[in-house]
Amino acid sequence: MKCPRCQNENVNVQMVSESQLKTKHHGIILWLLWGIYWVPIKWLCFTLPALILKIFGHKKQKIVTTHKRIAVCQNCGNTWNI
Ligand SMILES: [Zn+2]
Repeated sequence: MKCPRCQNENVNVQMVSESQLKTKHHGIILWLLWGIYWVPIKWLCFTLPALILKIFGHKKQKIVTTHKRIAVCQNCGNTWNI
C-alpha cells in the first residue's frame, strides 16, 4: 500500500473504534458553522423535526460502535480510510 500524499510504502494499518449516535450524521462544528448562516432556516427545517424526533423517536436512537481500518503513513503522518 502506498501513501496517497508522499507515495511512501512504509504504511501502518490500524483498527480504530468509533462511537457515535446513529441518527447523528454531522459533526458539531459543521452544525455550528451552519447555525451561523442558517439559524432561522435550520430551526424550521432541522431543529423542529429533530425535537419532534427526540420526543417521539427517542427509543430508536442508540449509540453504535463501528470499527474501521485506517492507514497511517510512517513517513509524513498522513492518515486515510481504507
Ligand atoms: Zn505519506
